Amino acid sequence: MHELSICRNIVTIVSDAAKGRRVRKVTLEIGKLSGVMADAVAFSFDIATQGTALEGAGLEIKEIEGRARCLECGAEFPTATLFEACACGSRNVERIAGEELNVKSMELEEAA
Ligand SMILES: [Zn+2]
Repeated sequence: MHELSICRNIVTIVSDAAKGRRVRKVTLEIGKLSGVMADAVAFSFDIATQGTALEGAGLEIKEIEGRARCLECGAEFPTATLFEACACGSRNVERIAGEELNVKSMELEEAA
């Protein structure tokens, strides 16, 4: 499952950064155009964190709406698909948000 391997990557990144401390909470940013299902990530997170520094950690997912900018007229507009045309008719648009898959922040337990 795609989301499970994503969660395993997140576990690797976060446990490296935690340097042996336990992780209380992880906040992710997932763009709605990234093709990653937030629900599936939440489900996979519990599996991927078992036996790691993240076991039992809370997970918060911030979903990011897609946005695009038209390269013809400069308009910015929300977009729910990867290939949406601008209101001016141009399809020469670039995506400026919505493809994120980031570890936004994490909370660690106090060092002993
Ligand atoms: Zn336009």
